[in-house]
Amino acid sequence: MEYDIIIIGAGPAGLTSAIYARRANKNVLVLEAKSYGGQIINTLDIENYPVEEHISGFEFATKLYNQAKNLGAEIVFEKVVDINDLGNEKEVVTTKNTYKAKAIIIATGSENRKLGLPNEDELVGKGISYCATCDGAFYKKKTVAVVGGGNTALEDALYLSDIVEKVYLIHRRDEFRGEESTINHLKEKDNVEFIYNSNVTKLNANDRLESIEVTNKDGSTKTIEVSGLFVAVGRIPENQNFAKLVELDETGYVKAGEDCHTNVPGIFVAGDNRVKEVRQLVTATSDGAVAATAAVKYINN
Ligand code: NAP
Repeated sequence: MEYDIIIIGAGPAGLTSAIYARRANKNVLVLEAKSYGGQIINTLDIENYPVEEHISGFEFATKLYNQAKNLGAEIVFEKVVDINDLGNEKEVVTTKNTYKAKAIIIATGSENRKLGLPNEDELVGKGISYCATCDGAFYKKKTVAVVGGGNTALEDALYLSDIVEKVYLIHRRDEFRGEESTINHLKEKDNVEFIYNSNVTKLNANDRLESIEVTNKDGSTKTIEVSGLFVAVGRIPENQNFAKLVELDETGYVKAGEDCHTNVPGIFVAGDNRVKEVRQLVTATSDGAVAATAAVKYINN
């Protein structure tokens, strides 16, 4: 079957695209490699989305998923491995099938950046985590560290401070990227210790993580005993499978402006995987509306 629009990714950008495309009466296939919701599903409490003062990421994502589905979007859980431009028709190849559509919206978001330490991968689930709200409860009354200086690291540290005995927040500079209000909140916590100008340089483990080596900019090192290390050092756009067709910038984000057009006619991009200044839930859903409207216009013309 040929679709009007295939949307790759069922996060906030992709599902919002589906809502707008369905409301324009286009038939829509959404392809998702993992689970619906994207990274927002791991946020415990969203406080900055207009109208909802508090909503969990899971509830937000589930409502969005149901809204898209109830409007008639077909949502299939298959990983896209390639896309081809056949001119007026586009081809989307998954690990199981090949689909065709008149237009594509790439809304694949991003994945966790790793520290790149030798035994990091093998310690995932044994002390290393990329999601405080998923794994925090395993560290009740223990000592943990969070590494990073953006909103995710700050929010993770705040969340963990209510569960664990002590949190070290390790940042490579002396100034955070994240919101002032969260920093102030953290400073009020007496079980949070800030370690500035430092990197985590070694993971010491004996089956499980036991301690970390932290190296200061001045070259000095210290070993800190921790049961868990929460890595929150940003995200990497998931655009590798489209790189041969769609232009990316030097850091891997799809080159596109606020109109969500890529360099290929009929292929659009929405959400965190495109070049943009502000990556927030509200800008992802906004992209979804813009990209779907552009795709509908492209098809109708
Ligand atoms: P981010 O803002 O890109 O911050 C990543 C942090 O990790 C930076 O402080 C960076 O240091 C540090 N870092 C990067 N590579 C590192 C490495 N190899 N070793 C040590 N530190 C490293 O990422 P994020 O915090 O995941 O946030 C992503 C986006 O989502 C942001 O736009 C953020 O505002 C947004 N977000 C919003 C909310 C909310 O509104 N409630 C919650 C979470 C995230 P430098 O500062 O030195 O570069």
